[in-house]
Amino acid sequence: MTKIIDGKAISQAIKDECRAQAAKYKEKGTEFTFAVIQVGSDPASTVYVKNKKKGCEYIGINSLSYELAEETSEDYLLKLIDELNANEKVTGILVQLPLPKHIDEDKVILAIDPDKDVDCFHPENVGNLSLGRDGFLPCTPAGIIELLKRSGIEIAGKECVIIGRSNIVGKPMALLLLRENATVTIAHSKTKNLAEVTQRADILIVAVGRPKMITAEYIKDGAVVIDVGIHRDENNKLCGDVDFSSAMPLCSAITPVPGGVGPMTIAMLLKNCLNARRK
Ligand code: NAD
Repeated sequence: MTKIIDGKAISQAIKDECRAQAAKYKEKGTEFTFAVIQVGSDPASTVYVKNKKKGCEYIGINSLSYELAEETSEDYLLKLIDELNANEKVTGILVQLPLPKHIDEDKVILAIDPDKDVDCFHPENVGNLSLGRDGFLPCTPAGIIELLKRSGIEIAGKECVIIGRSNIVGKPMALLLLRENATVTIAHSKTKNLAEVTQRADILIVAVGRPKMITAEYIKDGAVVIDVGIHRDENNKLCGDVDFSSAMPLCSAITPVPGGVGPMTIAMLLKNCLNARRK
């Protein structure tokens, strides 16, 4: 029978662990403040930012929020980041992406103090990750590792195929799976015979950004399938990159959308927030 991996329950367990850890830190007089900046009013970003603030409240750390107008200049944003970098009370800074077109995302990511970069996007943190050093972990991929481990799925020695090579999901996912001793393949838009490649996977991680693209023909019998995608289908219902009803009967375990990978990203962000003072 296929196991449906419950991302909601696993993320709740992680948030509760964070809450207990934050309370211990508080007893010792250590406080955390997480600053989140949103530029413009993209509805999806507004929901993500709201959930991040709610998460901080739940685990008991302070949050500051900056809701800036769409036409905010790059200079203004960079100055605000400088101020937050210099503010000793602020332990984590996150700028919600995507940014309006007139702002250079790379410049903004580079401006954040790597010690406060709880999203793990700064090149210094990405470098540490690729060298296997301690530090912040990229939230969505780290959440997927937790989902696998806490569902009792072994990673070491497994054939893992990731569809997608983005800087946010695909590439850091490969690095984390390597750390866990998996054999890793990254497939992408130029991969030939995609189904032949994905059929090799014991664990298939799908971050392709195309609704319901991955159907049964891409999946080996008994594979574990992790669906990173988030979309609205023709009936305005949330769906993933995997066609759940076609894929599910073949899988030994699968994540649903919603309630799979999505809730894990925020849980791992909160974990990073609590790791911010470690240095
Ligand atoms: P992206 O658009 O940056 O990357 C998509 C990748 O898929 C690219 O590397 C591309 O090469 C590959 N691709 C595109 N078409 C392909 C095809 N036909 N065959 C093979 N490969 C193909 O997307 P992303 O930022 O990595 O996000 C992927 C999905 O995950 C999106 O649906 C996004 O909304 C979702 N997402 C969810 C979370 C979460 O917290 N659950 C976090 C980040 C992203």
